[in-house]
Amino acid sequence: MDKVLFVLENKEVLVGDVILEFSYLVAAILFVIGLKLMSHPESAKRGNFWAATGMGLAMITTLFLHRDGVTGANISLTNGIVIVAAIVFGGIIGTIIARRIKMTAMPQLVSFFNATGGAASALVALMEYSNPANESALVTLLGLVIGTIAFSGSMIAYGKLDGKVGDIFAKWTTYLNLFLLAVIVAIIVYMMAFDLDMAAKTNLSYVLLAVALIYGIMFVMPIGGADMPVVISLLNSLTGIAAAMAGFIYSNQAMILGGIFVGSAGAILTLLMCKAMNRSLINVIIGAFGGGGVGVDKDQGTVKEITLTDAAVLLAYSQKVAIVPGYGLAVAQAQFAANDLVQLLESKGVEVKFAIHPVAGRMPGHMNVLLAEADVPYTKLVEMDSINPDMPNIDVTIVIGANDVVNPAALDDPSSPIYGMPIILAHESKNIIVMKRGMGKGYAGIENFLFFNDKTRMLFGNAKDTLQKLVSEVKEL
Ligand code: NDP
Repeated sequence: MDKVLFVLENKEVLVGDVILEFSYLVAAILFVIGLKLMSHPESAKRGNFWAATGMGLAMITTLFLHRDGVTGANISLTNGIVIVAAIVFGGIIGTIIARRIKMTAMPQLVSFFNATGGAASALVALMEYSNPANESALVTLLGLVIGTIAFSGSMIAYGKLDGKVGDIFAKWTTYLNLFLLAVIVAIIVYMMAFDLDMAAKTNLSYVLLAVALIYGIMFVMPIGGADMPVVISLLNSLTGIAAAMAGFIYSNQAMILGGIFVGSAGAILTLLMCKAMNRSLINVIIGAFGGGGVGVDKDQGTVKEITLTDAAVLLAYSQKVAIVPGYGLAVAQAQFAANDLVQLLESKGVEVKFAIHPVAGRMPGHMNVLLAEADVPYTKLVEMDSINPDMPNIDVTIVIGANDVVNPAALDDPSSPIYGMPIILAHESKNIIVMKRGMGKGYAGIENFLFFNDKTRMLFGNAKDTLQKLVSEVKEL
């Protein structure tokens, strides 16, 4: 490993250096393969495996072959022990949490892990800013700010998804956020423009950390209604960018590449989510949307229930059925029972499709993950834009634990916090059966007049129990 291969710009290049760079190239290829496979539910598990293998390879080769840019020394034994101990400790905690976590708490877990990624990158930047050998001051400061915002923002997102943190929305939050952003930019410009001594630099970097911390909190705090998905993917993207910047500080290609992949994948997802929510990205960045109104209290009318037997008959004698899954399906873990119903109806000649809203559930792709778990063929999942034109031809739409994503207030109530969000047009189908436990509201906390529609019948109860009973009823027909 220590054999000199050649000399480049007065620096000796060892066999180990070449192996290290080559391993980074292999890791980058594995990241790309992993990302590609993750874009389809069927291959997503394999994608995760290959991306993790790439990361593992980069970590191992860095540990053994990385050399200090100035002294040329490998990682010392003491540092090596500390690094391995941190990996083992973090790995054990991560494994325990991931194994114990309930499927319904997965979105919170994703936000929490995202926060730790942002914090790690911010800490790297904070430590390295006062390192005289660090030549990339601007990148370090940006890494500090972005990583910190990703950390505090993701922790607030975690709290909101877990129902521990409510919304604060007032006009002043928008002005405060703009003010905080201006302060952050001003501090960075000041630190870059003047030749400050080390004490001033260190103090200012702590001030920057504090302001970025507050901005992250205040940026996510006002976001309510149904707009969290956009913020979650934006925070994910910020963590990737912060990690790429940490990679720049250490001139580590694997870290730069990994960060760029996460950052750009998150950015693409953010744009897709913005489109799905009909919001502009600039509104997300200044935290100017969300919260707000509570919806107009119209004359609601009454809800009508349906018996299991009537529901079974209606479904079994339909030609076309659409199922709209939502967060309640995840809570009830009803995906397997839903698949049983689909197979049974199909055996009776009914055509059944799942109508997938991009923000159904509590994390991007939530419904795809759940239904893939129950082996629902991917061809049965039809995206909102594709199924909506066909909704008037659907005989029965079964809404399982979904609420906001089928709320017509998004179309016809300008005072509603979800106004403008595209929905699955369940109300256009010939009959609607809604399965939920009671008259509980969805994430946006607003009334849904679909439940009072003349064509709607409610089938109250836990989604899994109701589906299992419905399957038995259909079997008896
Ligand atoms: P909603 O949160 O609007 O509604 C879920 C419904 O499920 C509730 O009204 C509840 O009614 C019902 N429910 C809960 N538990 C059960 C159960 N065990 N059995 C049957 N029903 C149950 O869900 P949607 O999927 O329609 O919408 C998702 C919302 O979450 C959107 O507002 C979206 O913006 C937001 N969001 C999405 C994220 C994402 O990335 N996908 C991230 C963060 C937020 P009841 O209590 O009466 O049973």
